[in-house]
Amino acid sequence: MKTSVIGYPRIGALRELKFACEKYFKGNVTESELFHTAKHIRCTQWTQQRENGLDFIPSNDFSLYDNVLDTAVLFNIIPDRYKALGLSALDTYFAMARGYQGDKGDVKALAMKKWFNTNYHYIVPEADDGTELKLTGTKPFDEFREALELGIQTKPVITGAFTLLKLVRFTGTKTEKDFIAQTAEAYAKILEQFAALGAEWVQFDEPYLVFDLSADDIALFQELYRTILERKSGVKVLLQTYFGDIRDCYREAVSLPFDGIGMDFLEGKQSLSLVLQNGFPQDKALFAGVVNGKNIWKNQYSKTVTVVEELKKQCSQVVLSTSCSLLHVPYTLKNETALDEKYTKHFAFAEEKLSELSELKAILDSNLPCQTEEYAENAALFAEKRDSVDKKVQEKVNEIQPSDFFRLPEFSQREKIQKEKYHLPILPTTTIGSFPQTAEVKANRRKWKDGAISDEDYIKKTQEQIAECVAFQESIGLDVLVHGEFERNDMVEYFGENLSGYLFTEKAWVQSYGTRCVKPPVIWGDVGRKKPMTVAWSVYAQSLTKKPMKGMLTGPVTILNWSFPREDISLKESAYQIALAIREETLDLEKNGINIIQIDEAALREKLPLRKSDWYSEYLDWAIPAFRLVHSGVKPQTQIHTHMCYSEFTDIIPAIENMDADVITFEASRSDLQILQSLHKNHFKTQVGPGVYDIHSPRIPSVAEMKDSLHKMLKIVSKEKLWVNPDCGLKTRGVLETKPSLKNLVEAAKEVRNENI
Ligand code: GLN
Ligand code: ZN
Repeated sequence: MKTSVIGYPRIGALRELKFACEKYFKGNVTESELFHTAKHIRCTQWTQQRENGLDFIPSNDFSLYDNVLDTAVLFNIIPDRYKALGLSALDTYFAMARGYQGDKGDVKALAMKKWFNTNYHYIVPEADDGTELKLTGTKPFDEFREALELGIQTKPVITGAFTLLKLVRFTGTKTEKDFIAQTAEAYAKILEQFAALGAEWVQFDEPYLVFDLSADDIALFQELYRTILERKSGVKVLLQTYFGDIRDCYREAVSLPFDGIGMDFLEGKQSLSLVLQNGFPQDKALFAGVVNGKNIWKNQYSKTVTVVEELKKQCSQVVLSTSCSLLHVPYTLKNETALDEKYTKHFAFAEEKLSELSELKAILDSNLPCQTEEYAENAALFAEKRDSVDKKVQEKVNEIQPSDFFRLPEFSQREKIQKEKYHLPILPTTTIGSFPQTAEVKANRRKWKDGAISDEDYIKKTQEQIAECVAFQESIGLDVLVHGEFERNDMVEYFGENLSGYLFTEKAWVQSYGTRCVKPPVIWGDVGRKKPMTVAWSVYAQSLTKKPMKGMLTGPVTILNWSFPREDISLKESAYQIALAIREETLDLEKNGINIIQIDEAALREKLPLRKSDWYSEYLDWAIPAFRLVHSGVKPQTQIHTHMCYSEFTDIIPAIENMDADVITFEASRSDLQILQSLHKNHFKTQVGPGVYDIHSPRIPSVAEMKDSLHKMLKIVSKEKLWVNPDCGLKTRGVLETKPSLKNLVEAAKEVRNENI
């Protein structure tokens, strides 16, 4: 039996790549210093994978920013506006990722979207009628050679042709059909070049195959691979799928001349039955995704062994693999020194998953798998009782009444009451919550956590930061203010720390996009509120101003989606537990004079099942009620805002409306205004704040640019419903760009108001 991983994390075990890139962006290191760090990361990881006995070691899973962007650049899918800047190849790449503003020009970044149902975000390639899709890059070959120099034969990984064409945004009149021939040719060239380099296997990642596929999609998939595989040139090709099962194209996939097919046996509900019922060709290897690439819990060997033994009956060659790339889990438990071993013995991060694969290999290679030492040890661990129960929390969940999911009076009545209460101008301006997390802000928190300063000093310093932030917002004339979230490292971790049932890691970072990483907390037990979490900060901030101060909470679905969830109770049950805790906080804020409360559901869309038929029954039917549970108890005058990122929710608008918030802000400046059209078509009642300022880029948007956005928005949204705000929180931005950007934003709103719209 052999083992494989689909991909490995790449930001560096201690985020070395993040820091090197950020220094490069600031001009503090040279291109070659950045490349040196990158190479070091790749070589360390390959060596480590080899030492762990991994048989199929991936290459080209590394990326300086994003692997889909790498694929776009590899195939010359580079819009002219970036080429026209006349920058170096590396800087052109980063300009596509982050936008460029400097002496060579001013160009926005490409759009960024959520990677399937994960919290990773990819850069959306953009092709127009002039795009010539062809193999121009060398990255996969360079990295393959680099590994060979270490004596390591790797399995290069490339975004597959079908998935690439499905993810490209076509801005001209041409569509995916017009690019089929070019795409097939480019991918065939990849195989030829790898053959020349002596590669044994190439992995094409085709996660798009797990969506609901139309007949056209299936035809496209077949047409592409019929052509590409004709020119395999002796290289073996692995069709790698993940994040679900391939029920719509299983038969087509197994009948194409692939040498291996990778399937996900964890998220792919039908994967096992597809293989058992349809059989599996004897001339192919099945790469069985049985080790979870998304969660951090140890693999339960008894379950895995059962699945693999079933598969072995049908398949002549089974390779043990991960369910998806390990990109979505942290690097290693070795850096976790604070957590008690009674917890960590249940965890497996990327490195530990390598050990799991090799243990599973040993177990499955033995004649009596269940009698191996590894198997017995694992079984004993799973038999242990965990201290995860909180009776009080469970009682509260059991006592939830149907009426607890409904807020009264209904929306339009509340809207009237709130208009009278707040007297906001039309096009009210606000921000999404966080202000730049400067070195000073971070140092203050760090010192307090390390015990280097007293609670009193910490509070005083944080209050100073709040006061400065409030004064700035007043000075530029924002209408609804925020306190700035200086007490938070992260919008989920902060709440986790103040709730019971959570565990925290020190270095367990996971890449979210580019150089941005998150450190998801771990839900270990039943979750409840220990004490008020935000009230004191919000009340202090409100005391400094007559303008409304927006309280700032994270919603239950986002807290859950951005944590590593339990596997011993349902997601619904966890979501309701968290919802009740945040509900207590909401009511506490209201009681203390905070009348506008934003409950962020940045990640609401994240775990939406990839197949439409599962959307409601598996997710929205509990996710939306969980949100309603949080705010249904507030007074009619209290204005509930919510915020969502990456606004791909055109298709779930009724569900969003059903959250029954009063105002929703969301990302819009990188995408077109299509979402607004859909809101309009769906007679969306909730007031909306589509972002006019892209905060994922360091660019400063001009007044004219934001006015232009507002004019476009006003053609679709009535002026009574429109809010003016950035796309998202400002925590990752610098003060220098934030201040002028917000000033411009307020100015743009004022000028448009004065146009007598
Ligand atoms: N209130 C949060 C902030 O401003 C929202 C962040 C988010 O949507 N990701 O940082
Ligand atoms: Zn956001």
